[in-house]
Amino acid sequence: MQPLNETATARALDKLLIDLCDRYGFKPVPKLEWSKRMVKTLGLAYPTKNVIRLSAWLNPEQAESTLRHELAHIATGKNGARHPHGPQWKKWAIELGAPPVRASANGPANAPVRKATYSLWGLECPKCGLRLARKRVRKGLYHRDCGPKAGSLVRRMKDTAERVYSWVLRTLDETKTNEAS
Ligand SMILES: [Zn+2]
Ligand SMILES: [Zn+2]
Repeated sequence: MQPLNETATARALDKLLIDLCDRYGFKPVPKLEWSKRMVKTLGLAYPTKNVIRLSAWLNPEQAESTLRHELAHIATGKNGARHPHGPQWKKWAIELGAPPVRASANGPANAPVRKATYSLWGLECPKCGLRLARKRVRKGLYHRDCGPKAGSLVRRMKDTAERVYSWVLRTLDETKTNEAS
């Protein structure tokens, strides 16, 4: 999905922001920033810095509504510090055409789905069979106790963290049993 700030919608929102500021006399016009890192949060307002930051993953409807929401925070200014969504903010939200509610039930509609659940490698030392879980595997990574001559750790699996850890723990249990007997 293309980040919204790379689309024509972003330019339409720039214009909307300028129009609204013009109509209500907000000067200077707040700086509009876009963040690709905001995958859960729709938008943020920084009244003291006069900055509005929107998630790059909003759909056009969300972006317009969030822009109006955040502009209401700018309009409320420092007075909103203690109760960001208090009566003063609500008045501005209604005036500026944003739903006068604290937050939307949904996150950014186009946020990329994280693949975090399948992010681990299960590695094994070719000499002693030691098992490790790693997020990233450097080329030539070896088991320090066995030394580089034993060979690089072998990639045995890539799976969910839960499965990789249970695979790693299995040998630890086996080792303990061997030591005990
Ligand atoms: Zn808010
Ligand atoms: Zn080893």
